[in-house]
Amino acid sequence: MAWDFETEPEFQEKLDWADAFVRDEVEPLDLVFPGLAYHPLDDARRPIVDPLKQRVREQDLWAAHLGPELGGKGYGQLKLALLNEILGRSSWAPIVFGTQAPDTGNAEIIAHYGTDEQKRTYLQPLLDGEMFSCYSMTEPQGGSDPTMFETRAVQDGDEWVINGWKFFSSNARTASFLIVMAVTNPEVSPYKGMSMFIVPTDTPGVNIVRNIGLAGERSDEGMHALIHYEDCRVPAENLLGGEGQAFVIAQTRLGGGRIHHAMRTVAVCQKAIDLMCERALSRSTQGTKLADKQLVQAAIADSYAQLEQFRLLVLHTAWKIDRYRDYKRVRKDIAAVKVLTPQVQHDIVYRAMHIHGAIGVSNEMPFASMWFGVPIMAVVDGPTEVHQITVAREVLKGYKATDDLWPSEHLPKKQAAARARYAELLEHEVANL
Ligand SMILES: Cc1cc2nc3c(=O)[nH]c(=O)nc-3n(C[C@H](O)[C@H](O)[C@H](O)COP(=O)(O)OP(=O)(O)OC[C@H]3O[C@@H](n4cnc5c(N)ncnc54)[C@H](O)[C@@H]3O)c2cc1C
Repeated sequence: MAWDFETEPEFQEKLDWADAFVRDEVEPLDLVFPGLAYHPLDDARRPIVDPLKQRVREQDLWAAHLGPELGGKGYGQLKLALLNEILGRSSWAPIVFGTQAPDTGNAEIIAHYGTDEQKRTYLQPLLDGEMFSCYSMTEPQGGSDPTMFETRAVQDGDEWVINGWKFFSSNARTASFLIVMAVTNPEVSPYKGMSMFIVPTDTPGVNIVRNIGLAGERSDEGMHALIHYEDCRVPAENLLGGEGQAFVIAQTRLGGGRIHHAMRTVAVCQKAIDLMCERALSRSTQGTKLADKQLVQAAIADSYAQLEQFRLLVLHTAWKIDRYRDYKRVRKDIAAVKVLTPQVQHDIVYRAMHIHGAIGVSNEMPFASMWFGVPIMAVVDGPTEVHQITVAREVLKGYKATDDLWPSEHLPKKQAAARARYAELLEHEVANL
């Protein structure tokens, strides 16, 4: 009997350590250095952050998702999920633990498809937490449908020349390099005619036109770049993987990225439930505590059950990734998780906020950023509808149409078949009556 829902005691000890460490040492960074997690460390932040990273390394929790050959401990996705349930509470925690998006995904594809030279130049400093990276794929005229991408890369001698526009390239302004997806052969299907390139951010022709912010952020604080690649030349060896391999590489990258977001969403929702319960027990109105009111109890019960369902799906999917080591095989599961992520966050954060009354919607509680995370989670790494389509297509693969006019479970037909199956016995019974 192999089903087992227990965490081994040695790893549980590490999780307990991480839980206290994040609460006591890392969550305060969100308050003293808000919005700066993805900025290179300056003289004020380095003396605080570097020793924290060192303590994580000493606990063998640095870059927990990576194998030993890449400086991690090879814990895999399931253990990363358990860790992310803690790290997701804080925007600085993934940085301090070396597991931040989009660098985890970018590291994964360089590790998988990069040459030795690319690994030395780009991967190692990324894994050491000494540089940031950017994934530059979406274009202004089309995000959900990569077959609409137009950015072109043309080979010119021993260089590639990139021209085109990219949109919402997160962290480009602080990244040392960009991974750019471009059309290299417009004559074949886009699934075979696009390639990936590693482009150092200081390459001439990488023009960051604007750093777009999210709603509520000041206009000079944006982290999502609109980039015009204009005659941007990179050496031929900056091609990542083979020519025409961009779709295959993107699938590796985005599959991992989506489940990592979901793992952190578990943390956000748990925090919302914790706050909801504390408030329900602390606040009284019309003669009883909120916790004694049945409608509030329903909100708590529904939130608990919803999160438990979601968490189990996330953990099971992470387990399947470790088990099969093939993102294609867990496509349906990852897409289902991606669809549920904003829904679960929406329902639970809304209830927690609402039960707090006015203070819940104020800027004196952490709900606003959790709340705005909902539409972000519904769009980032592909919108909900696209993933619903994936789930449905994958589910439908397990079925076939009936060639009969009536559904296979149509009762008159089934009753006739059942009678025919036992005709002899039934006749015998009738004869004995
Ligand atoms: C915070 C954030 C960070 C991001 N970071 C990056 C990054 O680092 N690098 C990068 O390359 N991109 C990044 N993106 C972009 C993201 O991947 C795209 O926004 C996403 O793929 C959707 O593309 P779009 O915005 O062009 O929306 P569109 O493709 O225009 O879709 C808009 C809406 O149309 C509907 N829709 C789309 N397709 C279908 C369909 N098949 N059926 C039914 N309805 C549909 C959905 O309602 C969808 O929300 C980021 C986005 C956000 C919000």
